[in-house]
Amino acid sequence: MLDIKNLSVSYGAIDAVKNISMHVDDGEIVSLIGANGAGKTTTLHTITGLVPAKSGSVMFNGHDLLKERNHNIVTYGMAHIPEGRHVFTRMSVQENLEMGAFSIKNDSTMAADLDMVFDLFPRLKERRRQLAGTLSGGEQQMVAMGRALMSHPNTILMDEPSMGLSPKLVKEIFAIIRKLHAEGITVLLVEQNAKMALSIADRAYVLETGSITMEGDAKDLLHDEKVRKAYLGA
Ligand code: ATP
Repeated sequence: MLDIKNLSVSYGAIDAVKNISMHVDDGEIVSLIGANGAGKTTTLHTITGLVPAKSGSVMFNGHDLLKERNHNIVTYGMAHIPEGRHVFTRMSVQENLEMGAFSIKNDSTMAADLDMVFDLFPRLKERRRQLAGTLSGGEQQMVAMGRALMSHPNTILMDEPSMGLSPKLVKEIFAIIRKLHAEGITVLLVEQNAKMALSIADRAYVLETGSITMEGDAKDLLHDEKVRKAYLGA
């Protein structure tokens, strides 16, 4: 379980995240929605240790992530799929995936894990020798997801997986997220695409200029008048 309490994060004079509390229970999909600049990415980056917190706590399965210096979230079963995918453009698809399993030394485990990812994303299997930089945005998203899965995470943090993708590809990526969830993976999903994010989630939080202004059952938020006006273009 991921439990964030009274988290505040600043970049110099800019208060990007202001005293937020949220939690993700095992087996849930929780979405964090909000406009551009609301603080969604900052929240994820603080969980993963990329950005320091000003105050608050982030507990993950008994580990205090803000207190443990240089922690590696992967060893705790958490994987981060960053905004903009960050694939290694000059490496092949397969080499990118192998980078996700850097802690696994055994060749047969590596082969089995590659097969698992290729079963999930047959298109990556066809393109395994292709340089990742020459793939489409949707395929790069698949590489980023596949790379994260190579570490056998129990929890994945996804930042804007729908960004820049066609509606058809967004559906494809969300279908994969559903499948991972069905296999028992816990998901914290950050999205500007509120409609998709609320459709897939169990619960959700709305972040506005660094503060959580609404939270609850995702289906309730999907039908909430204020959310519809502000985030669903209704
Ligand atoms: P987006 O979807 O556009 O990434 P977001 O909700 O993820 O938006 P953040 O990227 O977390 O929002 O940004 C929150 C606030 O912090 C914004 O005001 C942003 O300008 C500021 N900010 C983000 N990163 C930095 C940084 N490295 N240095 C200074 N300010 C930053």
